[in-house]
Parts: sequence; C-alpha cells; structure tokens
Amino acid sequence: MDETALGLDGLPVDPALIAEAAALPEVEATARHADLAAQIEAANKAYYESDAPILTDAEYDQRFRRLVALEAAFPALVTPDSPTQRVGAQLAGTFDEVRHRRMMLSLSNAFSHDELRAFDARVRRGLALPAAPEPAPDLRYVAELKIDGLAISLRYERGRFVQGATRGDGTTGEDVTANLRTIKTVPARLAEPVSLDARGEVYMPKSEFARINAERAELGLPEYANPRNSGAGSLRQKDPAVTAARQLSTWSYQVIEDESTPLRLASQSEALDRLLALGFTVNPNREAGLDIEGVITFTEAWHEKRHGLPYETDGVVVKVDSFEQQERLGIVSRAPRWAIAFKYPPEQVETVVEDIVAYVGRTGTLTPVAHLTPTKVAGSTVARATLHNLDEIRRKDIRVGDHVILQKAGDVIPEVVGPIVDRRTGDEREWDMPAACPVCGQPVVRDEGAVRHYCANLACPARVGQEFGYFAGGMDIDGLGWAVLSQLLERGMVKRRGDFFRLTVEDLESLDRFARKSAENLHAAIQKVRRRPLERVIASLGIPQVGWTTAIELSHWLAGAVPDGPDPWLERAAALLETTATEHPEAFEALDGVGPTLAASLSAYFRSDGPGKGVLEDLADAGVEVEQPVPRAALAEGPLAGKTVVVTGTIEGFSREEAEAAVRAAGGKPGGSVSKKTDYVVAGPGAGSKLAKAEELGVRVLDAHGFRELLEGGE
Ligand code: NAD
Repeated sequence: MDETALGLDGLPVDPALIAEAAALPEVEATARHADLAAQIEAANKAYYESDAPILTDAEYDQRFRRLVALEAAFPALVTPDSPTQRVGAQLAGTFDEVRHRRMMLSLSNAFSHDELRAFDARVRRGLALPAAPEPAPDLRYVAELKIDGLAISLRYERGRFVQGATRGDGTTGEDVTANLRTIKTVPARLAEPVSLDARGEVYMPKSEFARINAERAELGLPEYANPRNSGAGSLRQKDPAVTAARQLSTWSYQVIEDESTPLRLASQSEALDRLLALGFTVNPNREAGLDIEGVITFTEAWHEKRHGLPYETDGVVVKVDSFEQQERLGIVSRAPRWAIAFKYPPEQVETVVEDIVAYVGRTGTLTPVAHLTPTKVAGSTVARATLHNLDEIRRKDIRVGDHVILQKAGDVIPEVVGPIVDRRTGDEREWDMPAACPVCGQPVVRDEGAVRHYCANLACPARVGQEFGYFAGGMDIDGLGWAVLSQLLERGMVKRRGDFFRLTVEDLESLDRFARKSAENLHAAIQKVRRRPLERVIASLGIPQVGWTTAIELSHWLAGAVPDGPDPWLERAAALLETTATEHPEAFEALDGVGPTLAASLSAYFRSDGPGKGVLEDLADAGVEVEQPVPRAALAEGPLAGKTVVVTGTIEGFSREEAEAAVRAAGGKPGGSVSKKTDYVVAGPGAGSKLAKAEELGVRVLDAHGFRELLEGGE
C-alpha cells in the first residue's frame, strides 16, 4: 500500500475498498454510509454498554473499514458524529463520570504485514525519514501484545491510588474506583510518591472466563461471548463484591506524567520499565529496538504461541518508541499516528460432526453436544462443542455427518459456526432430542414456549451428582473432585449437603485409592470451609438463575431481616426464607436486580414443598457457620431509611467506599448522580458538577461534619 491507502486524514484503509466506494453514485454512497453507521452504532452500544456483542470482532472491523473507505471517497460524509470520529460509546449513566486529563484514544488497525509496512511508510514520511528499504536507524518500534480487555486509567496522587476510570467516550469515563480496588494487580501504593495516570487494560484470564460461562450456562443465563466482554461486565458492576469475586487482572502500558512529579521519560520502552519499577504489572512479552521487519517477525512468532497464554491477545500493538517522534507525528481523529494495532485473523477450521449427544446438567437441562473429528484450532485440539439447544441446531441446520466450520469464541470456547452445505452427500441425518433421559430413563419435557428440554426427575442421578459437585466447587472444597464425589454418592455417604461436613477421616479413608494422609487432607479441606460468607453458601446451592449478584442481595436482605431468637442464625434465616417464599413471594422483588422471574425461582426453591426445604437447616445442623454481611438496611429503621445520598469530593475521615457503606448501614441508598430524587449531597473538597447540580435543584448539601451528625440520627 502507498499514499492512496490513506483514508480520512491518514486513517489506513484498503485501496481496493476506496476504489469500490468511489465508483458508487453519491446517493447510493450516502445510503450505504447511513446503513453502515447505524449498524456500527448498534454494535458499539451492545459491545460497550451491555458487554454483549451482536457482531464478531471480524464482522465489526470489516464494516468499520467499509465506512472509512466510503468517507475517504466521499469526504462530505464525514460528520462529527460518524463512528470514525469517535472513541467507544456513550456512557450508560450507571457510574459517576470522570473527565480524563488527557484523551483516551483508540488505535488504527492493520490486518496484514503489508498494512504494517504501509504504516511504517506513513511514519517515515511524517518524520521526513527516507522511504524503505533505506535504513532508518533513528526510527525504532516497540512491539507489545494487544491485550483483549477493557482500557482503564488509574490516577495516582503522591504514590496513592485515588481514582480509576474506564475509557468511556475517550473524554469522559466511568468511575470504577471501588471495583478496581478489588483487583490485586492494581497497586494501592507505588514504590515512589509520584503523581501520574497509568493506563492499561483490565482483563479476565481464560480459565476464569470458562468457569464463569460454565456457571452462567448452568444457571440458564446468557453466556459471555469472550473474555473481553466477560471482563468488562465484571468490572462495570454496581457492587464491588461481584467484581472481587471474579479473578480480574491488569497489564499497564502507558504513563501520563504529572508536571508536579516529572519522570522525564523519553520513550515507550523506558516508560514500560518504569511502570514495572513503580509496582505495576507490565506484560513481559514485549520487544523494543525493532524496525518494521522485526515487528513482522514478532507478530509471526506470537501467531500460534499466543494461544498458550493464560489470557487473550487479539494482536500486537506497534508503537514508535521515541516520545519526541510520537509528538511530531501527533494524532488523527480517534487514534495516534505513531501506533497501530496489528490484528490476527479469526481462526476457523473445518471438521466433521460425528455424533450429537445430549448431556444432563445440574438443573436437569439436556444440552446437545457435537462430537467432532478431533481438529486443531486456536492452539488446542477440539473434539466436542456445545450446540446449546435444539432450536440452535435447527437454526444453524447442523446434521450428524455434516462438514462444519469450527472456531473458538474468545479463543476459548469451541463453537460450530455452521455446516458446509456443499459438502453434503445425502447421508447426513437430522438430530432430535431423546424422549427419555439418557441417565434415568424418565421422560424428557419441554415447557410451553421455552427453549430448554429437561429431565424433570429431581432424583435423577445426573442431577443430584452435579448439584452436589456444584456445591462442593462453590464452597471451594479443595481436592473434592468427581472421582471422590461419585464414590461418596454411590456408597450413600453423602445424601444431603450437610453430610460433607459429617464425614470423618475414617469414612474418607475407606474410599478407593485413599490412604490416611489423603483422607486427613480432604477432611482438613472440608473443615476449612465450614465458615463461609452467607452469599457463598447461597450461590453454591445452585438455585436456578441465582448467581453471585442475587446471592449477595439476598444475604444483605437476610442480615437485616432475620428475627432474633434462640435457634442458630442459619436456621432462623431458613425459616424466614420459607415463610417468605410460601406466603408472600413477591417480597423478593424488593431486592435490587430481582424481577418477577428471579423472585419466582427463589420462591420455587425455598417454598415449604420446594427442593430447598431443609437444606440450610441441614447445613446448620452439620455445624456450618455463616459469616453474616452487614444488613442492607434499605428496609430497616436506620436514620437514612428510604433516603438517597450522593457523596462527592473528598470527605474527611472517609474514603468514597466507606462513606457509601456508612450510608447503606444507616438504611440509605448511595446515589451516583444528583437529581430531584436525591435527598442529600455530601460534598467535600474537589466536588464539582454534582455540587453545582445540587445547588441548582435545591438539594440539601452537607459537609463531613453534617454527614456524621446525619449518620448518628441528627439533622
Ligand atoms: P482496539 O481494541 O482495536 O484498540 C485500541 C485499544 O487496544 C486501546 O484502547 C487499548 O485498550 C487496547 N490495548 C490493548 N493492549 C494494548 C497495548 N499494549 N498498548 C496500547 N493499547 C492496548 O480499538 P477500540 O477502539 O478499543 O475498539 C475497537 C475494536 O473493538 C474493534 O476493532 C473490534 O475488534 C472491537 N469492537 C467490536 C464490536 C463488536 O460488535 N464485536 C463493537 C465495537 C468494538
């Protein structure tokens, strides 16, 4: 590619696409532009706001390039609201807003080695260096892995972490400080008392992604499309406890220095080393001192190897190393001219569906799984892929014997894209759900209008085994795998969940392949989990559709609502759940995030004739103790009952999190933004637009002193 391969003001794009666009009549081009822009807008919304993409990244990138090509051919189509001119998406309004001190940009993309060479040509021209193949020893690139996560900016003042935000629309992001504080790789204090912004990526390791999706599938919740969306969804949670429960991590790759404590960095490679020295995690798989051919070698070296990494990378980010050169090159609309993201093509392979087999899960759901001719894709050999449900099989028209296209969603989960219809011989056969459960032989049912088929036999060994395995996994009993569990169930040693806690060392020693030592270890592992936070116990019960978020809400509610009495707390909690579920199940809808479906699921479980009957009592009887959370006293008579309080600026004696916790503990609800419904605004130094808004609306404003009095019950 050469000069013609530049779209708007230097956005790289395929010249063939520009030529194709230029040949269109203007009306046609305008209509196509509007259509593409609308598709991209919708995809942006789904991807950035709901963390649930409606297009694959490759489909998205292809549309984006066609849009750039149209704008390159018809410059009048470039308006300030075009997706090519903007970063990310609108803010959803769930979090406080943070204005970035310097804009958080996107990156231009390269999809081939030639496009990397075209980038090098543009950089050389921009720096008035000779064109390739002339050597340009003063121009050096740094190649870093492109982490497929969520961009964040971390603010440090005199070495302390004070605020963290998402990229948002590039200018303003969402304040996710409390959530970021739960991530171990976000240092609370730096090695030096410097002030700076560190930019980087929050990501979810592949193993955690697989774990969460398996959990969501079991709970009947929609699965995340990839670790990026799963990570973003986990960070953008209202309750930091949910973020804390997911194993997120970070890599840092950029420093924005403060004039007050200059670091005097001259290059990206220096900046990365310095970030590491300050205490940030910096991805070790990087290389400096490269020319563009060196960069290409780097991309080739990681093409296959990246699949072996425990986190996902979708490419390589190439940056001009020298900051002085970066400055001279500047930025173009939404991305710097001194950097480019090389993206690996999506990996798709061909294989054959040898059979389709229905597996019975914990909730009785029959999931059809394709047994495939083992084939290597994205770094591992795949022999099985879930087909989700019968509707999905029909929609994709997948038949036993079909040649199919296979890919990995988010580099992790094997996915059958669809059949290669041309390769059909006529011997393929349509598959149907079995009429009887393959494990217990009882009838398979499908509720009117529902997608799933299930075995309704509550005593089906497949269900019981999985339910108990889910419980042991959820409680985090170390060393209790399937081999042990199935023996415990088969020998009748575990009939109820509490029985895990009644097992003696001798019981365990009687199991196959167990010796005294291994029995003692497992026994000790079980004792270790006797005391668990209530939300973990609830989340481990495997109530359909009830995951961590609901478990946390339910625990807060119970903590505030369980009456006093002589019985153990867990028994009183169980009694309250049973009466609520049986007599006024609608009460569950008062919990945050619980709608009619979840409320129905909770009441069906805890009702006097439901499967949860006696489960908590049995655990209490077996000596399981729960750690109670602080009551979410929205319903209690705290001094702030029913009041919404917005905290802004620095409140002496409280961190933001502590101030909000204090509001909750007093029965109030911490709010994110000021509206007419806000009862109080607690403002301290640094308060900005929210204070102004409060004054405009006439909302009561309190300082730290007034806040303390309010918490104690005074006005
Ligand atoms: P991008 O993901 O192509 O690249 C920019 C981002 O890369 C930066 O903001 C940063 O967060 C990240 N990054 C990772 N490692 C980095 C490193 N070492 N150095 C610097 N930055 C690094 O661009 P974008 O604007 O974030 O998003 C656009 C992309 O997102 C699209 O190309 C597409 O892949 C995806 N997307 C997909 C959909 C969809 O519907 N599937 C919708 C919107 C966006």
